[in-house]
Amino acid sequence: MERVKCLIIGSGPAGYTAAIYAGRANIKPVVYEGLEPGGQLTTTTTVDNFPGYPEGVDGPQLMEDLRQQALRFGADIRSGIITKAELDKKPFVVTTDEGTQIEADSVIISTGASAKYLGLADEKKYAGEGVSACATCDGFFYRKKVVAVVGGGDTACEDATYLAGLAKKVYLVVRKTYLRASKIMQERVLNTPNIEVLFEHNAIGLYGEKGVEGVHLVKRKGEKDESYYDIPIDGFFLAIGHKPNSDIFKSYLETDEVGYIKTINGTPLTKIPGVFAADVADPRYRQAITAAASGCKAAIEVERYLTTL
Ligand code: NDP
Repeated sequence: MERVKCLIIGSGPAGYTAAIYAGRANIKPVVYEGLEPGGQLTTTTTVDNFPGYPEGVDGPQLMEDLRQQALRFGADIRSGIITKAELDKKPFVVTTDEGTQIEADSVIISTGASAKYLGLADEKKYAGEGVSACATCDGFFYRKKVVAVVGGGDTACEDATYLAGLAKKVYLVVRKTYLRASKIMQERVLNTPNIEVLFEHNAIGLYGEKGVEGVHLVKRKGEKDESYYDIPIDGFFLAIGHKPNSDIFKSYLETDEVGYIKTINGTPLTKIPGVFAADVADPRYRQAITAAASGCKAAIEVERYLTTL
């Protein structure tokens, strides 16, 4: 069986940054890129808020740059998915989707989280053309335009408020009769004149010739009384939560109720020495730059840990 000093699972900004640091430390990390090589940023257009790119950079280009930088320092980047991780033995044993088993002295979990979508076919159809799950990434492109945000939690309220500072009008589409968000966020939304909250509404489709031009809504007044109508919008933002990609680790590591891995005192250390959690431990910031930082921290911890073996 192949044995590696450091196995990095996931290839978003966290995974590649961990690979850059571990590579420079001569650890020769092996990276498994996972289901979505390059991670969530490969599904976005321009990234304006990653330091170092004064003119912005395309998401896929940014990820390719990080990948190349990791390769320069000797990272062994492989396509493939880790489907099983046995973290109760040393060395750890991971299994790929092709059934290959690898022994690893240390593991960095940088599998991140995936934004949840409603599951409408139109979300895929208009991906990158008016549909976004990241208001801070894409809001800038909707200055003086009309957008809809779906969701009723803190993220949705925060996104709606943020977008209201840019867009002409924001519709907040909430499926219940109330907002689940904290009181202060609710008040902020309800006191912002250019946000209109549509309670008891569901988005059931999008339309438009060149990207999103409107949303089909249904207002549920009762079981038998549903009314359908359309509103013109330029952008459709999902804010209905994220799902951390932590399922295969859950039997070994503690997670919060959503699935983010719990770490020790804000470090990437988990309760298993040698296993480090990067972006998959962050329910709060979820930005490319904070993910990159989490990968950096995890790689530094790996370096320290390997000297103790
Ligand atoms: P939440 O799970 O709290 O909220 C998700 C929202 O999306 C809910 O209103 C839910 O509706 C709605 N929703 C889910 N699925 C659907 C669907 N299929 N169709 C329509 N609506 C749907 O996720 P958040 O991302 O908002 O927050 C996650 C955590 O992060 C929370 O603990 C939150 O407090 C925290 N957070 C804190 C912030 C802060 O303190 N500044 C900022 C952002 C997040 P329903 O209510 O009907 O279930």
